[in-house]
Amino acid sequence: MAIERNKLRWNGWGWTAHKDALAGREEVWAWLAQELGMPSLLATPARKLEDANLPRPQLAPDLRARLVAIVGPEGVRDEPYERAFHALGRSYHDLLRLRAGDLAQAPDAVVYPRATEEVLALLSLASQRDIAVVPYGGGTSVVGGVSGNRGAFPALITIDLSAMDRVAEIDTLSRTAAAQAGIYGPALEAALAAKGLTLGHFPQSFEFSTLGGWIAHRGAGQGSNAYGRAEDWLAGAKLATPRGLLDTQTFPASAAGPDLLSLIAGSEGIFGIVTEATLRLHAAPAASDYRAYLFRDFASGAAAIRSAVQEGMPSTMLRLSDADETRFYRAFARAGQSATLKSRLEQAYLDARGFGRQACALIAGIEGEKPVVASAASYFAQIARKLGALPLGRGQGGRWLAGRYHGPYLRDPMMDRGLGVDTLETATSWSKLDALYAAVRAALDAAMRETAPRPGAHGVVLCHISHSYSDGASLYFTYIFPRALGGELAQWQTIKKAASDAIAAHGGTISHHHGIGEDHLPWMAQEKGQLGIDVLRAVKAALDPKGVMNPGKLIP
Ligand SMILES: Cc1cc2nc3c(=O)[nH]c(=O)nc-3n(C[C@H](O)[C@H](O)[C@H](O)COP(=O)(O)OP(=O)(O)OC[C@H]3O[C@@H](n4cnc5c(N)ncnc54)[C@H](O)[C@@H]3O)c2cc1C
Repeated sequence: MAIERNKLRWNGWGWTAHKDALAGREEVWAWLAQELGMPSLLATPARKLEDANLPRPQLAPDLRARLVAIVGPEGVRDEPYERAFHALGRSYHDLLRLRAGDLAQAPDAVVYPRATEEVLALLSLASQRDIAVVPYGGGTSVVGGVSGNRGAFPALITIDLSAMDRVAEIDTLSRTAAAQAGIYGPALEAALAAKGLTLGHFPQSFEFSTLGGWIAHRGAGQGSNAYGRAEDWLAGAKLATPRGLLDTQTFPASAAGPDLLSLIAGSEGIFGIVTEATLRLHAAPAASDYRAYLFRDFASGAAAIRSAVQEGMPSTMLRLSDADETRFYRAFARAGQSATLKSRLEQAYLDARGFGRQACALIAGIEGEKPVVASAASYFAQIARKLGALPLGRGQGGRWLAGRYHGPYLRDPMMDRGLGVDTLETATSWSKLDALYAAVRAALDAAMRETAPRPGAHGVVLCHISHSYSDGASLYFTYIFPRALGGELAQWQTIKKAASDAIAAHGGTISHHHGIGEDHLPWMAQEKGQLGIDVLRAVKAALDPKGVMNPGKLIP
């Protein structure tokens, strides 16, 4: 196994050994309490695994023996850590339940196959003997994609793909690679880098998520402007199903009827398990240029991104923070420090030039061959200048790149202090972007006030444009709020529903890259239409007639 799973938190993010410096910074907690209208923040420690409520496994001994016969004794695990680690994903409300020691959804056993044939044998057994199956990559789903939902079935196993982590072949001439689906991001990129290649799929969860999960949730890495989304780089796949193997084969392009690959990307484990995939690659970039700009407002920053993508400028990432996100992260970095003369002068200069409370930071990232990078960076600088932006240089861009995977580590210390922190994302056309942005912001703000634990308390809403296309862009919202202790799940549901209803009412997709899972099901029928849902049901019936695959996900 490429990653030492037993060193990961079963109820939080990343390595157990990682102790984030934030936890002990009392000045930051005092500042955050003030920002959220709270007198102080309470300590809310998580329960230990020994004190958690873990139900007894329901797997009959003869079934366990059949699983062992397929994957060997080492491949069937049912000790508490394994079952707890695989009970839920890593969304905010998953963490609420895990931290409270609620392991009602733990699987009866976790099974680790090593080859496609073993996966096929497991799924055939599950279908014959009525065992629900949750396919599991890194478990970083934030939409309830790996929740241990057994539906109407008496037993539940999680099939963890992490022992299937080989890169089978790299075709440097065609720039493709075939890899097993359980490979983690860093191991995949290391194997490709050895041949001077990259997939370029770098989600914020990169360190702890897998190729199969990226495909199954149809994800987008932070550099998807250049490297594409999962469905763009996926060239072929093997899908093990209860009915046998669906092998799409790999062609650079084909007109042989509808593309079956597009049924696999985004299938969230409900049709079968992706065991191996062929990927389109890029040359590892020879150069990269990440630099920051300050725009006077969100509209002019968005206009810069729109111009760049519509004019065909090569970009890897154009990330525009709204005014609140820009201010919040600056203040967060300086929390507890008194303003120096230099920082006051800087602010006075910015205010005088019109970069006051509405100012928005943008990071423009460009990767590729040196001349392409140099010319695109200078092209974007021109666009930004025309729109009145202030160039801030490479320091801030470089710091963002260096810390791009650190953000999720801040969530656990925040949850230890009675705070809620969640994210959601959507996408829409440029013409609807402003209205969608305003509506979701307002919905989040109102719902956080309504559910706040005391009068006057409230949340903060931060947003950025995360990915951009010629016809539109995605909006990524982070919201932080004081938890209504004791009623936290209801509070989360109220906030989530308000924001999702606003998305649906204003022409946004219910997800740009997180997927549907269980959490977005209520909005799925509206987005796909009844006929669309019927098509998905028909495909499921063809591949998984008993319905054992990932019950309760994707199809309402
Ligand atoms: C802090 C944080 C940051 C994130 N940032 C991003 C981001 O930048 N971009 C992004 O796209 N997503 C992001 N995500 C969401 C999540 O990481 C992605 O959805 C990721 O692709 C999931 O991969 P995984 O291996 O963890 O899959 P899992 O969580 O294990 O599974 C995801 C879904 O795929 C199914 N599945 C997993 N493996 C297979 C397989 N081999 N065959 C069939 N089905 C399978 C599961 O049943 C489940 O439905 C983030 C999540 C967190 C917690």
